[in-house]
Amino acid sequence: MTRYLRFPRRSFLGLLFLFSLSTSALYFIYSAPGIVNEYLFMVQARGLQIRENVRSIGVQVLEQMVRGAYSNNTDYAYDFNVSELHIQTTTYLPEGYTYLPSQRCPLKLPSMKGRVDVNMSEVALSEVERTLLLEDPSLALGGHWKPHDCMPRWKVAILIPFRNRHEHLPILLRHLVPALQRQRLQFGFYVIEQAGTEAFNRAMLFNVGFREAMKDLDWDCMVFHDVDHILENDRNYYGCGEMPRHFAVKLNKYSYMLPYGEFFGGVSGLTVEQFRKINGFPNAFWGWGGEDDDLWNRVQFAGYTVSRPSGDVGRYMSIPHHHRGEAQFLGRYTLLRQSKKRQEVDGLNNLNYSPRISRTALYTNITVHLTKELAPVADY
Ligand code: UDP
Ligand code: MN
Repeated sequence: MTRYLRFPRRSFLGLLFLFSLSTSALYFIYSAPGIVNEYLFMVQARGLQIRENVRSIGVQVLEQMVRGAYSNNTDYAYDFNVSELHIQTTTYLPEGYTYLPSQRCPLKLPSMKGRVDVNMSEVALSEVERTLLLEDPSLALGGHWKPHDCMPRWKVAILIPFRNRHEHLPILLRHLVPALQRQRLQFGFYVIEQAGTEAFNRAMLFNVGFREAMKDLDWDCMVFHDVDHILENDRNYYGCGEMPRHFAVKLNKYSYMLPYGEFFGGVSGLTVEQFRKINGFPNAFWGWGGEDDDLWNRVQFAGYTVSRPSGDVGRYMSIPHHHRGEAQFLGRYTLLRQSKKRQEVDGLNNLNYSPRISRTALYTNITVHLTKELAPVADY
């Protein structure tokens, strides 16, 4: 008894310290991986930025030396400053350029001005509906639209995975609908909402969205779009191409740098043919992380490469929010090692579900209750 009472206070405090240290470590690893990733990336990005600056100072010094050496020869053309943005502005069609309803819409329209004014303030969905319809009354139920003055190059279904982010949706639509109209694409919006209390499954929602959207219209291009990604440049063309495309290249929360070469998250796009060929997304990723990397693997195994917009065209802003992050999916590394084998048995071909579908002015809502039993995987 006395012994117990004499339990040294120092070791008690030590234990308390260790306990709080390990619980907070577990919290950040398991419950809030987004915060840790962002922080680690920021540290890494700082290093990269410093190196970049040192390099550009080096180039400037070299430029001065070359200028100096050839100071008598003004014809010497050594352009250190060829930026891709610069080249692009010159190839966009001029203001007032006319095209015909019988022709395919041009790719680089004068209406695509470049930088988008981003407004992150919260707004009611009804307010966005009102403004967009006033702007163009031909915007039809479900957020369906097509250009009247030319023939669209792509019929694009925008698929948005969703649960409990109601304040994000109007902000996204406010920016994206007008941008797609300026790009003269035919489009429709699908919000695929996960019901139930299972961990969030972004990838499976995209598979459901794909199947349901294809029943609605013969789309030829699918854009997989996080609800919290706002494009900063309307020259980021949401049509598909020969190769699967990654649109969200530079995100503000990753210091406007690609986190890693194989990053395929945020906003990506595949033709219907490409998406079918890779058997869609994997269904087995429950919780945060990994499903976008698996999609990257699938694309590579099918013999595709990924194309990306250049320069600052692929810039996005993430809507700041206070939602508790989805729990990290710890099984993702094991699954990612088996990407190739799983590609054949898990995806569009093993998926069952029963959706509830309703239409609002700006999107079709597809609500599904997801469970693991809906996507059984045969032995492989
Ligand atoms: N999402 C959602 N509700 C959630 C979790 C995710 O709607 O509870 C959707 C939403 O479209 C979001 C995307 O899944 O943009 C990716 O999730 P999140 O933004 O949490 O991932 P992070 O940006 O941290 O990688
Ligand atoms: Mn996000």
